[in-house]
Amino acid sequence: MGGLSAGNFLAKYNKKVLIIEKHNIPGGLITSFKRKGVQFDLGIESLYELNEGQAIPQFLEFWGTSIETQKNSGDISCFIDGKRYNFHHDSLKEDFLNAFPNDKEDINRIFEVNEKISKEMFSGTEAPKPPYEMNLFELIKFGIHNYTKKPTFMKYGLKNGNDVLKELTKNPIINSLIYSQGLFPMVYMAYVYRWSVIGKGSYPKDGMQAIPNASVNSFKANGGILKLNTEVTEILIEKDVAIGVKTKNGECYYARDIISNASPHFTYELLPSNFIKKDKLKYEIRNKEIFPSACALFLSINKNYDFENTSKFSFLTSSNYKDDYKSFTPENCPIEMIVYPQKTDDTNRAVVALFPIPYEYQGCWKTSSKRERVEEYYKLKAEVTETILHRLSLVMGNNFKDSIELAELSTPITFERFTYSKNGSFMGWAIDSKNYGKFMRQKTKVPHLFLVGQWVFPGFGVAGVTASGYYLAKDLLKSDGIDLEKDYINFFS
Ligand SMILES: Cc1cc2nc3c(=O)[nH]c(=O)nc-3n(C[C@H](O)[C@H](O)[C@H](O)COP(=O)(O)OP(=O)(O)OC[C@H]3O[C@@H](n4cnc5c(N)ncnc54)[C@H](O)[C@@H]3O)c2cc1C
Repeated sequence: MGGLSAGNFLAKYNKKVLIIEKHNIPGGLITSFKRKGVQFDLGIESLYELNEGQAIPQFLEFWGTSIETQKNSGDISCFIDGKRYNFHHDSLKEDFLNAFPNDKEDINRIFEVNEKISKEMFSGTEAPKPPYEMNLFELIKFGIHNYTKKPTFMKYGLKNGNDVLKELTKNPIINSLIYSQGLFPMVYMAYVYRWSVIGKGSYPKDGMQAIPNASVNSFKANGGILKLNTEVTEILIEKDVAIGVKTKNGECYYARDIISNASPHFTYELLPSNFIKKDKLKYEIRNKEIFPSACALFLSINKNYDFENTSKFSFLTSSNYKDDYKSFTPENCPIEMIVYPQKTDDTNRAVVALFPIPYEYQGCWKTSSKRERVEEYYKLKAEVTETILHRLSLVMGNNFKDSIELAELSTPITFERFTYSKNGSFMGWAIDSKNYGKFMRQKTKVPHLFLVGQWVFPGFGVAGVTASGYYLAKDLLKSDGIDLEKDYINFFS
C-alpha cells in the first residue's frame, strides 16, 4: 500500500510511474483471497481510519477513487483462564463495571486515562512534520507542545503496555482484558487505540482487497503502469547512484527515482555485491528491533453456526500480559479470533484466528537457513493447526468444532515469503517504549533510492503506510515546484 500510495500521488502529477509487484495481486499485507465458500481477509477486522472524513477515504478521493464501506459494530468476547467476559461495543465501561463491581475505582481510572489519551492522540488534523526534518528549535517546540497539550499521553501513552497496566490496577483479570485487544509488546497508547475503536471502525463491503484494488484503478487512470508477477532481483547502480532495477526474468527498467516497498533488509540485499555502501547500510539496521510476526489460521465456518453479534473473541490466561512473547508456543500463546461480516458471495463464515508464535519458533519453523519449506515445515504446520483447533474447541465447544469446514495456517514464514517484510513483521519496527518513534526516513543514503511503507515515517498500519507514500511524493515533487501539502489542504477545503 505504501508503494501504491507513492505511485498514485506521483501519477496524479503526470509523473511516469511503473509499479512492479512480485505477487499476482496488489496490496501486500492488505489482501483478501477465496477458499471453500468464503472470502478471507488477512487479519484486519476493520479500520477506524476508513470512516468518512478520515485519512484513507481522503487519500483515495484525492487520487480520484473511492470504496464502499459498512460499519463494523460487532461486540467482543474474552475468555480469561476459560471464563467468558462479554463487552458490547456501545457499553464497554458499563460492562466492565458490571463484571467487576469490587474494582469500580480502578475501572474508572483506566477509562479516564484511556479517554484522555484518545482525545490527545486524535487531536489536530495537520500532517505532522517528520521529526528528523525538524531543526533544534522546532524539536524543542514540539516537545513543549506535547508536554503541555498531551500530558496523559506523555505520562502513560509511550510507556510499555504491561508496565502501565500494573500501575492502573492490581486485578490481573482486568489487565488481561485490556491486553486482550493487542497481544503484542506495544506502548500503552496502542492498547488505548485498540479499545477506543471497538465498534467504531469501517469495513470495505468487498473485503480489504478493495482498498488496493481501488488504488490501482486511480493509479492506472492517471497513466500509471502496474506489472504483476514480476519480482525485482537487483537494484541497478551506476556511479554510486540508483538508476533502475532488474527483474527475475532478466528485464531491466530505468528511472530517475527507485522506490522500494520491501523492508530495508530485503531492499539492501538487492544492491550489487560490489557496491561499496551495501555492507554499511546493512550494518546500520542490524540491531534495530522488529515488530513480532504472528500466525493466521483461516477458518471457513458452516453458515449455521451462530456467532450472535460477536465479531471478535480472545482466549488468554491471566498472566499472558506479563509473558515474554518469545516464549509463546501453540500450547500457551494467547489467541484472537475475528469473525468477518458475511459478504454477498460467502456461503460460509470467514473467521481468522491470530496468535503470536515467533518467527524463530523451532528453528524458524523447521525451515533450513535458506527458509526452504521442506516436509518438516508442513508437518509442523499441521501439528500447530491441530493444537490451536483443539484449544479453540475446548473453549468454544463441539458445536464450533463440528462447524469448521476448512482450516489453513499461515506462519511468519508465509508473511515474509509473500511480502519480503523481514521476519514476517506486519508493523515494521518494534513499537515498545525503547523503539517507538525511531523512524527511518524515506530517503536512503543511495542517491535516487527511496523507501516507502511501514519501515519509514510515519510507520505501520494502512493509514500510516499510505501517509508514507504522501510524504515521499511531497519530497519528490518539490523539485518540480509542486507543493503537495498545499494542494492537499486546498483540495479538501
Ligand atoms: C494480521 C494483520 C493485522 C493487521 N492489523 C492492522 C490493523 O488493525 N490496522 C492497520 O492499520 N494495519 C494493520 N495491519 C498492518 C498493515 O496491514 C501493514 O502495516 C501495511 O499493510 C504494510 O504495508 P507496506 O506498504 O509497508 O508493505 P507490504 O504490505 O509489506 O507490501 C510490500 C509489497 O512489496 C512487494 N515486494 C516486496 N519485494 C518485492 C520485490 N523484490 N519485487 C516485487 N515486489 C516486491 C510485496 O509483494 C508486497 O506487495 C495488520 C497486518 C496484518 C498482517
